[in-house]
Amino acid sequence: MTPQSKKWMRRVAKPWRLVFVGYVLAMTLATHWPSLELGTEAQPAPDKILHMLAFGGFALLLWRTRWLGAAWMAGPVAIAWAALDEVTQALPILQRTFSWQDMFASGLGVLLAVVWIWALGAIGGPANRARLAFGAYVLGDQFVRLRTWIVGLAAAGIGAVVMALVMWMLLGRAFGFPYYSVLATLIVAGVLGAVAATHLTLAAMYRRQASALKGRQPCFECGGSCCDVAFDEFGRGRCPSCDARIHRGQWREPMDLPLTAALRGAGSAALTAIGLFFVAVFIYGIVLGLSDRLTVAGHLLHLWQRLTPDMQVALDLAGIALILGVAVRVYRFRQAQLHDRQHVQCRCCHHDLRGTPLEGGLGRCGECGTPFVRFPHQPQAVSRRD
Ligand SMILES: [Zn+2]
Ligand SMILES: [Zn+2]
Repeated sequence: MTPQSKKWMRRVAKPWRLVFVGYVLAMTLATHWPSLELGTEAQPAPDKILHMLAFGGFALLLWRTRWLGAAWMAGPVAIAWAALDEVTQALPILQRTFSWQDMFASGLGVLLAVVWIWALGAIGGPANRARLAFGAYVLGDQFVRLRTWIVGLAAAGIGAVVMALVMWMLLGRAFGFPYYSVLATLIVAGVLGAVAATHLTLAAMYRRQASALKGRQPCFECGGSCCDVAFDEFGRGRCPSCDARIHRGQWREPMDLPLTAALRGAGSAALTAIGLFFVAVFIYGIVLGLSDRLTVAGHLLHLWQRLTPDMQVALDLAGIALILGVAVRVYRFRQAQLHDRQHVQCRCCHHDLRGTPLEGGLGRCGECGTPFVRFPHQPQAVSRRD
């Protein structure tokens, strides 16, 4: 890594590092507050779900700080922190207790975070990696600005409140109050609402920033301008500031495939998700069916029934999030295939492009006009980081 690219990396990581440190302080304070009891006797707080969310969030934020060399390292570090957090709670002066179920729920949250880090990680060949580097650069640049954080947090708050209110009214209609795990359902609905609202708001800001980026032509490694670079006949060049390999086509990438092409990718992911769901239901059915004949199945069922209701909800949610994570990875894999073959077969109309002339690595489909890039087949053609 050159000094320029190191400087850029630190600039992008700094806001996440600040947020991470604040998050860990707040979380440690909350988990160690002497004899803290959330909820009431009749309506206990869904501890396990909170543990899952808290440590899942810990692992995700730690990943964004880029303090760890490899992304998956966030998993073991978060597990170690969860264990430390749980053990220190058992200190007599705090009047709180160590709980294996809490620890298990924290571990489940970390596992989900790692699965989603994997699901959203770098994938595909040079062309798709260039597309991902473009996205990662815009996203990194976006979160350097305070405005993004304020807008994102406001959207998250509004989304959480609206979703929780809607769920509150729906539950009241369907079950009448009191519904035994109303708090758990509201928390889950709130988190989903926050994620959806933040995603929609930031995606709108992202699109504006991405189109502004094309004119500036920054190096994705160090952020330096590459406007005056001379490219060779294949469109290859070097960043004048950090000497990283760049390509003329890296800023020209259309970010999204048209809906018809994207749906082809979504189809396989949807099938994967449905398939995995039925496998899960099938296994559950076998356990139920064999529970009186097979002792292992009987034990499993017995174990499940002994769990607290909020632990059961946490496990259900974890199962759904795992299945969705795998489906997202399958979808992204399919998209990567389409993007990596863009110079062979048009991404939009499937027209054969092998005879289409290229100019400096760039070309245009003769049938539908979709631009394409032929990236040189070197693994480090563009950014190696995700
Ligand atoms: Zn550079
Ligand atoms: Zn075409």
